[in-house]
Amino acid sequence: MDVAFEGEYWRPTCASCGVKMLERTPNKGGARFWGCSNFPRCKSRLPMVAALQ
Ligand SMILES: [Zn+2]
Repeated sequence: MDVAFEGEYWRPTCASCGVKMLERTPNKGGARFWGCSNFPRCKSRLPMVAALQ
């Protein structure tokens, strides 16, 4: 319902690096997910559904 503040949406922080994670979309399609901005050095990722909870 209240989608107005979606521009400044919450972003998870990588548990390993302490940096903000980036929104990733797989080239082959599928669900978007959060990936560490240090990828590929850091392979931490979170599913978006879980990140919203
Ligand atoms: Zn990381």
